[in-house]
Amino acid sequence: MGCLFCNIVSGKIEANVVLDEQHALAFRDIHPVASTHVLVVPKKHIVSLADATEEDVEILGRVLLAARRVAEIDGVHESGFRTVFNNGPNANQTVHHLHLHVIGGRVMKWPPG
Ligand code: AMP
Ligand code: ZN
Repeated sequence: MGCLFCNIVSGKIEANVVLDEQHALAFRDIHPVASTHVLVVPKKHIVSLADATEEDVEILGRVLLAARRVAEIDGVHESGFRTVFNNGPNANQTVHHLHLHVIGGRVMKWPPG
């Protein structure tokens, strides 16, 4: 079975892809919480931000810049958008392949639940 997001990266499992770059893939969340809800994942399997190392510095930068590009593609870069990494049990991380949520298209509350 393996990792769900590795299977999306390799094309074994279908996803609604927004952006496909050398180091990062962005695709629409299957259970969107706003009109824009995209996940940006590194193509390399990294479990979470807590598991990232110095050698991942370029990949992490590419993930962030891909998130900016996603916001531009969906037209939320000026209205505003939220970027979230859930890491580990207290943050309710459910897929153990690092992913950045890009959420926009509505006004959000703070602090998050
Ligand atoms: P997290 O709770 O931060 O680990 O987020 C995992 C996200 O992955 C959730 O928002 C899910 O809706 C989303 N998700 C799970 N399976 C898929 C899938 N096959 N395609 C797209 N998004 C998915
Ligand atoms: Zn993976």
